[in-house]
Amino acid sequence: MTRLVDSFGREITYLRVSVTDKCNLRCIYCMPEEGVKLKSHSDILRIEELARIIDIASRLGITHVRLTGGEPLVRQGIVTLVCVLSEIPGISDISMTTNGLLLPGLARPLREAGLDRVNVSLDTLRPERFRKVTRHGDLKSVLAGLKAVEDVGLSPVKINTVVLKGINHDEIADIATLTKERPWTVRFIEFMPFWNNGWKFGSRCVVPIQEIKDRILAQGAYPIESGRARDEGEGGAGVGPANYVKLPGAKGSIGFISMKDHICSGCNRIRLTADGLLLPCLLSDTSVDLRTPLREGAKDDVIAGLICKAVSLKPENGHVAQALVACSGENPSLSKIGG
Ligand code: SAM
Repeated sequence: MTRLVDSFGREITYLRVSVTDKCNLRCIYCMPEEGVKLKSHSDILRIEELARIIDIASRLGITHVRLTGGEPLVRQGIVTLVCVLSEIPGISDISMTTNGLLLPGLARPLREAGLDRVNVSLDTLRPERFRKVTRHGDLKSVLAGLKAVEDVGLSPVKINTVVLKGINHDEIADIATLTKERPWTVRFIEFMPFWNNGWKFGSRCVVPIQEIKDRILAQGAYPIESGRARDEGEGGAGVGPANYVKLPGAKGSIGFISMKDHICSGCNRIRLTADGLLLPCLLSDTSVDLRTPLREGAKDDVIAGLICKAVSLKPENGHVAQALVACSGENPSLSKIGG
């Protein structure tokens, strides 16, 4: 088996694939209300192009693929893509990060197509607050989506909760308590202030991950081992047993993710954008264009060479501190959402 190893000896086995830049929500901390400028349809990789790149990457040693976006479930052909990926011998794990809105109708076809598991983003359990945070989302659909994934056996279910001061930090205990009854892993994510196409969301909303953890420990939670911790995370990696805890008698567990804890020395990932750029590191602006050569008829060995090139460009560390833009700006939506 070929192995993709970067200049610092790290073996790359995990490919995160953005299948679309479109989203059916406008979460206040992720996008401005009017949305972001979308790439043109012709620039977005077609399903067969995505499948071909992933197939070639699998022959180089990629075993895990996470489908994300935008919102992956709004991508036409997403079930077909999962089906094709599940036929690739080297791919042993296909997962997805989704807002869950469309899971009620798609959980079963995705499961049958070969999806292994999902991470569902859920920041509040209060319907009115959910509508405000997402700008128009219906909490009921996400809860129905979670039921659907359990019914079809897509497990383990993971919930991603971004904690925002003045918006949902008063729900940390309630969301953690979900793990008492459900065998879910709830992962609290420290909000990262960042620029998105020139739009910014105030850093005053950051609740430090240690503060979140302390609140959970105050609920009686105790540390547990989590073998998968290194593989997981949304951009950052919560690595090490101390980052996973359990409430007494709970069926599920609780994790903590902060981009600042990202441990580059153990990074095993690369990332493909919806328009075909391969990013050696989430936090650097270097990329390798795969779409142009693909559409110009490049043979598999040329694409494989470009994937290897991207891996060779992987920096020793991603300069997390620089990537976290300290925003001082205020977002007018914020004051209307707390409570
Ligand atoms: N639409 C999908 C979803 O909602 O899960 C996938 C894309 S979304 C950008 C991936 C994850 O990033 C979500 O869990 C979201 O909450 C998280 N996220 C987005 N902006 C963030 C930020 N500024 N800080 C921390 N997490 C963020």
